[in-house]
Amino acid sequence: MEAEEIERLLAVDREHVWHPYAPMPATAPAHPVVSAEGVRLTLADGRELIDGMSSWWAAIHGYNHPVLNEALTDQLGRMAHVMFGGLTHPPALRLAELLLKVTPEPLTKVFFADSGSVAVEVAIKMALQFWRSQGRPERHRLFTVRGGYHGDTFGDMAVCDPVNGMHHLFSDVLPSHVFAPPPPLWQTGSGDGPDPAYLDELAAMVAAHAHELAAIIVEPVVQGAGGMRFYHPGHLAALRALADEHDLLFIADEIATGFGRSGPWWGCDHADVVPDIMCVGKALTGGYLTMAATLCTDRVADGISSGDAGALMHGPTYMANPLAAAVACASIELLLSRRWRDEVTAISRGLSAGLEPARGLPGVADVRVLGAIGVIETTRPVDVQAVQKIVMDRGVWVRPFRDLIYTMPPYICSPDEIGRITGAMVAAVRAI
Ligand SMILES: *Cc1c(COP(=O)(O)O)cnc(C)c1O
Repeated sequence: MEAEEIERLLAVDREHVWHPYAPMPATAPAHPVVSAEGVRLTLADGRELIDGMSSWWAAIHGYNHPVLNEALTDQLGRMAHVMFGGLTHPPALRLAELLLKVTPEPLTKVFFADSGSVAVEVAIKMALQFWRSQGRPERHRLFTVRGGYHGDTFGDMAVCDPVNGMHHLFSDVLPSHVFAPPPPLWQTGSGDGPDPAYLDELAAMVAAHAHELAAIIVEPVVQGAGGMRFYHPGHLAALRALADEHDLLFIADEIATGFGRSGPWWGCDHADVVPDIMCVGKALTGGYLTMAATLCTDRVADGISSGDAGALMHGPTYMANPLAAAVACASIELLLSRRWRDEVTAISRGLSAGLEPARGLPGVADVRVLGAIGVIETTRPVDVQAVQKIVMDRGVWVRPFRDLIYTMPPYICSPDEIGRITGAMVAAVRAI
């Protein structure tokens, strides 16, 4: 693209376009990307960057993938979209079949949403409507742990970490839920078990509030955007057991952890637990289009549908979009046909080896790796611009937040590319 045209467009960006979690006008310029192929992004000035972010956990197979492209163009030739009210179509039904095949057995019903945030809204609505239908409207609060992230809409924000989620800005309009302290950090590979004192605290808090609780909602084992924290699967198992003990629904937000990112298919698999309601998104379409889904058990679906309302009151305009569904089917089939577990294991080893030199460096608080997720936590908030300059000079794209420099690369990254990403991250912490 002409340099002049790029300059003109960047002026539009500066003047008129909001970016995520940014002021308007922005305080830092955005970098123009003109194409992407495999694990590389190409900037307007011709520079190539290895993408250490998978475009926010999504592009697990890399960019411009021939199989995903073909699924999309094939569907495009048939129909880009059709409403889902009263109509249905093969891509959505094939996707439902595939999702039921790869998720735990008790999940039998699928609600298609148009983003992860909406999938979590639907999960919360399912839980509340379930108890309303049972004549138990007093069961209207949710139980969660601090440090979580579940999306940016108001219902979701109310279960995000109260501090990171900026609850103070909206405390007068957000519903008030019950928050346990954050789960203790899990030193993966250390052999440490769950923390008995924390388990007691969870048990006491759930028992104290059980009469007013509809559900427990958590991100299984990995708390993503809330702080890139890993917690012991024993804590997840304990929450599931508490939900059973007090007859609460258990919602697993697998939007970040799903599709192998943390090692197994689902974060819940670390603890062999099965949720009553599960949200998937992000990598669902291999990073091509926005789509998510909320799955639930027969019991939840029957409970909702037998109530006075008789229906789940939700229905996005672009629900089950055929293009997104077709590419999601192709992405899941691609996973099923590949040795993705070996790829994730190899990435995990590469991340551990590559990030290890950061441990003990001045300014580094912790280094942790789980599945294809690698994190350097610093002792102070990082200068995002300074870190990005260093990693981009080394041909790598990562985007730190707060005190976290982290990567969750595409599964197709070679050992050499993982080495480039971790090398750039370590160089950045050395420099700052
Ligand atoms: C990203 C994310 C969401 C929100 O998904 P969007 O598609 O960005 O709306 C919800 N929950 C978790 C765990 C996430 O990581």
